[in-house]
Amino acid sequence: MTDIKAKIDVLPGLDPRAPLLEVNDLHVEFRTQYGISRAVNGANFTLAPGETLAILGESGCGKSVTAQAIMGILDSPPGFITKGEVKYRGVDLLKLPEKERRKVRANQIAMIFQDALSALNPVFTVGYQLAELFRVHRGMSRGDAKKRSIELLDQVKIPAARARIGDYPHQFSGGMRQRVMIAMALALDPEVLIADEPTTALDVTVQAQIMGLLAELQQQRNMGLILITHDMGVVADVADRISVMYAGKVVEEAGVYDIYARPAHPYAKALLESIPRLDMKGQQLNVIKGLPPALTAIPQGCAFNPRCAYAQDVCRQDPAPPSYIVAPGRTSRCHFWRDVVGE
Ligand code: SF4
Repeated sequence: MTDIKAKIDVLPGLDPRAPLLEVNDLHVEFRTQYGISRAVNGANFTLAPGETLAILGESGCGKSVTAQAIMGILDSPPGFITKGEVKYRGVDLLKLPEKERRKVRANQIAMIFQDALSALNPVFTVGYQLAELFRVHRGMSRGDAKKRSIELLDQVKIPAARARIGDYPHQFSGGMRQRVMIAMALALDPEVLIADEPTTALDVTVQAQIMGLLAELQQQRNMGLILITHDMGVVADVADRISVMYAGKVVEEAGVYDIYARPAHPYAKALLESIPRLDMKGQQLNVIKGLPPALTAIPQGCAFNPRCAYAQDVCRQDPAPPSYIVAPGRTSRCHFWRDVVGE
């Protein structure tokens, strides 16, 4: 369980009664030679302790950029946060100087990346990289840092952790490397963990093991978990809520059961229909026609209109659909959400 007092010592001003994480009207753009790429156009969501929020969407819909903005690791330039708030326990992280933000990373909010091999340093042993975190951030002695590193590798179920502490990242399999990444992310006991496509590069069996491990560690530590993925199959078992993103906006947010049972946005519905099913053996897979829009040229009105089976004239005109309240805690940015839910 996270010690909130220790967190306040690191970042004064935290309010333990405030929501764990709130993202309000977040806008991120990339200023490139080809024009302004509007990667995030007003993302909103909240996260509570112990909750798993899945952010779902195709590549290029703004999921990873949202995570980078929360972490404060956006490449700037060309990336700029032009509007919005990212509040951790009431403190707007976007207003903090870089020195303070650095303390928040790993201590309060940590991230697991998709490709563990490129996220880990290839020239240092995993033991050294883990121990370094404890020595730099916790001021531990070499011996204590090593002991704590072995304990952590044990917690993420690396067999023979004591023997493997001297191995380099390339000496681990893909699944084991991802476990090392999880250990590094959890080393400083963060309250929020962001996992960006943590299982994409792994086969399905290892995928299930890693997701199981993440769920177990989250429960033990009562962490808020943001799981970024394009795979609706991965989130069904682990997420409490789902935010579906399209062209930089959250187009539907709902509890996991609601969204799977009766999606309220045509894009969420199309994503669900494109999951391969055993009872569809021999039939053609459903796909979402067309491609997500270039973020330098987002269509007028609803950004999904060129691909949407429900689109009508109003969908092709500005303003874009607002966030309609479908039910308490459930929203959809579709003018015709009633038709979509009602089918
Ligand atoms: Fe489709 Fe129109 Fe709804 Fe957009 S607003 S998702 S185009 S029906």
